[in-house]
Amino acid sequence: MSSMPLRRNLTVDDAIAEVSARLARENPASARRQETAEAHMPGGNTRTLLYYPPFPIAFAGGTGARLKDLDGHEYIDLVSEQSAAVYGHSEPRLIECIARVTREGINLGGPNRYEAGLAAAVTRRFPMIEQVRFCNSGTEANMFALSTARAATGRDKVLVFAGAYHGGLLWFPAGPGPLNAPVPVVIAPFNDSEKTCALIEENAASLAAVLIEPMMGGGGCLPASREFLSELRRACDRHGIVLIFDEVMTSRLGPHGLQETLGVRSDLTTLGKYVGGGMSIGAFGGRAALMARFDPRRPDHWNHAGTFNNNVLTMAAGIVGLTEVFTPEAAVQLNDKGERLRQRLNAAAERRDLPVTVTGIGSLMTIHFSRGPVTTPADVARANQALKPLLHLDLLLDHVYIARRGYIALSMPISEADLDQVVARFEGFLERWGALIGPQ
Ligand code: PMP
Repeated sequence: MSSMPLRRNLTVDDAIAEVSARLARENPASARRQETAEAHMPGGNTRTLLYYPPFPIAFAGGTGARLKDLDGHEYIDLVSEQSAAVYGHSEPRLIECIARVTREGINLGGPNRYEAGLAAAVTRRFPMIEQVRFCNSGTEANMFALSTARAATGRDKVLVFAGAYHGGLLWFPAGPGPLNAPVPVVIAPFNDSEKTCALIEENAASLAAVLIEPMMGGGGCLPASREFLSELRRACDRHGIVLIFDEVMTSRLGPHGLQETLGVRSDLTTLGKYVGGGMSIGAFGGRAALMARFDPRRPDHWNHAGTFNNNVLTMAAGIVGLTEVFTPEAAVQLNDKGERLRQRLNAAAERRDLPVTVTGIGSLMTIHFSRGPVTTPADVARANQALKPLLHLDLLLDHVYIARRGYIALSMPISEADLDQVVARFEGFLERWGALIGPQ
């Protein structure tokens, strides 16, 4: 992108207006798509996260780590479908598998050749999951895990963390949202052992579960400290509370999930995103004793229904994805790439003495406009949020696609040359808008 001379007294809002106007001029097909979509969907949208003004850039397709929009521009894809597209967009083994399975028939309405294979792949890969069940999304997986904990303990409350996202019905930005599932919650501060343990002690008799991501993903890629997770483990053990790790996003951050790397095991774990080889999926599982009540041969079994729970596309693609493509070795390599990228982005800001901190682990990271450290949702809230749309739109114009909230997820096909370009374009952003970014 050509550099724009920074006018004196330019505000962040002026800069966003300028960049938005240019984006609108350069993307007439995306503008038309938005107009058409508005006729039939509120705001032309069916996934809130994907809307931003003036209108979202819409995509026609993807290859490797690249996306092409409706107007023909090509982007380096750093959203990777919010981490689900870890395989990139044209992994030949997945395409072959999905095409073959499609030809064989996809709505069989009975057990098929694949679900036991995916269950075996999941339990081998994630050793804390002794037994597993599948559903269709990460949201559903967390809902089922919470219901399992409530049914198993006979208690009703769930402890979650302020700022956490566990799905469309389980979002806690500042208390439970209006569309949240009606689960009674106790909301604790993330990475604060003392206050959280006090809340657990206070509510122990009515707490069924503690639900936490070992790295808060949507909340800003904030790693939970090992000590904090160990404290939660001990408190849950003391009171018979089910500890649930939401690894929908973080399971890719270690060869056997993030909890295995950290050495703290949950009772139940939820999965989603890439685990279905790019098809819709959710999974929940853990200690065999807890999962045993789902055995339909038992007279006292719990019912777990779902038309698409064992759909052949997800089951078959998931096996290929987990065992042939995103192997434990591939996870280690991709996370190494991510660590290096994060260091380079932080170094680019440091060299210019700008208040920017990139947090995360391995292949998942978030850019915050703050000098840091950024370790809690409160730190995230203190960072300059107004600059995030500018970063997002400016990089879009430069054909690098990151999530609006500054979030980046790497996919396997991303090359070192792509990462060099990402760093160069991020440096371009810092050069263009440095006067607006700092000092802080
Ligand atoms: N948990 C976490 C940690 C997530 O990041 C997400 C999705 N971003 C979900 C749950 C929900 O998954 P899904 O969108 O498949 O419902």
